[in-house]
Amino acid sequence: MNISELVGKNCCGCSACMNSCPKNCIAMKPDSEGFWYPATDENLCVDCKKCERVCPVLNNKKADNQPKAYLVRNRNETLRKSSSSGGFFPAAAEFVIEQGGCVFGAGYDEKFNVRHSFIESMDDITKFNRSKYVQSFIGNTYKQAKDFLESGRTVLFTGTPCQIEGLLTFLGKDYDNLYTMDIICKGVPSPKFWRKYLKWHIKRSKKEIKEVRFREKTYGYGSTTMRVVYADGSEYDEPYDVDPMLQFYSKEMISRPSCYNCRFKGKHRRSSFTAGDYWYVSGAAPEMDDNIGVTQILVNNDKAAAAFGQIRKRLDVAELDFDNDSAINGGMMVSSAQPNPRREEMFADLATMSVYGLQRKYFPGTFRLKNRIKRRLRPIMYKFGILKVYKKRMRKKQSEKG
Ligand SMILES: Cc1cc2nc3c(=O)[nH]c(=O)nc-3n(C[C@H](O)[C@H](O)[C@H](O)COP(=O)(O)OP(=O)(O)OC[C@H]3O[C@@H](n4cnc5c(N)ncnc54)[C@H](O)[C@@H]3O)c2cc1C
Repeated sequence: MNISELVGKNCCGCSACMNSCPKNCIAMKPDSEGFWYPATDENLCVDCKKCERVCPVLNNKKADNQPKAYLVRNRNETLRKSSSSGGFFPAAAEFVIEQGGCVFGAGYDEKFNVRHSFIESMDDITKFNRSKYVQSFIGNTYKQAKDFLESGRTVLFTGTPCQIEGLLTFLGKDYDNLYTMDIICKGVPSPKFWRKYLKWHIKRSKKEIKEVRFREKTYGYGSTTMRVVYADGSEYDEPYDVDPMLQFYSKEMISRPSCYNCRFKGKHRRSSFTAGDYWYVSGAAPEMDDNIGVTQILVNNDKAAAAFGQIRKRLDVAELDFDNDSAINGGMMVSSAQPNPRREEMFADLATMSVYGLQRKYFPGTFRLKNRIKRRLRPIMYKFGILKVYKKRMRKKQSEKG
């Protein structure tokens, strides 16, 4: 049996198998939903089973650690504004880059495909800032990271929990000069849906795309907004219940099958740091609640704690109670989202229907007059502080519902 047959739909697409193959006979190929799975060239395979030994799904290692939880804000407001949450990531990146190290993360290529790569200067930090709600292609970055580590350079590798586990099983040993940061992750959407979405933008605007920001903070941290900047400088700005990419993602229609049964979630992790959002800042640390964003972090081991001692001078920090405060926000830290019952139907339609057609079929409410008025009122509600109160209420209602 080859690696693909062994791991089946539990495959998380981390690409550890491809990076480890001594014969280069494994390629990552997209399936009909656009997610990558390993494909082995049987003519070249020598059955060494290295791919099986590095697969994090087949070798699920549990951490036995006692994390410390904090709420943090980057003191550099420009960096915080260009981050999804509170900008912990750029603070950790700066710590590593100042030592002459390099930082791996998810950014866009020239066609807005989401791919992992590395940077060596803080001038390039915005390449990785902000969450991209699309699965990032790892390519050969595990091998590149290993080369840097072996040459003695400090490395920070950031990504989803499965990507970090993939890196750690690929490396197979501890490196003193390696730091990792995984994110609290709801799931990674289909790169195929993403391509279709980008084409939809170009078709409706008749303009090329210059910039995409999944988590624009125009209307505050709690008000997730998709911003697309076109080549002529004009902008598209829509909230998560109107923008199709955010809408299909938030309603669990486009994430990878393995995300709905994620094996890498949990409060005990092998990464150095775990970073996520924190929506209950007004309760846990009201002095930090300025609507620009905070990051909840877990510092997962002693080496990470020593590094955090250095990183924290760039941050405002409040301690969180690991068992209680993290838990209120921790749904996605420990449990997988459930797929929408119409997910399969949607992927079948994706082959033939336009994004507009899909939206009309699955979310007809988007186009109702009431919702269109709500959209127009958003800037005014934001200006007078009503939006923040409204969002807080909605969140409270949701958490009461469970
Ligand atoms: C797909 C996805 C789902 C998420 N779901 C949740 C959730 O349910 N709950 C929650 O609390 N937080 C979630 N997050 C995490 C959150 O959005 C922030 O990324 C996190 O709080 C770090 O914020 P920051 O301000 O410190 O980092 P930023 O400065 O915004 O840096 C972003 C970091 O995320 C990494 N990243 C961005 N996009 C991807 C990607 N597609 N794949 C891998 N790595 C990526 C970058 O490499 C960088 O390290 C999710 C993030 C992503 C990418």
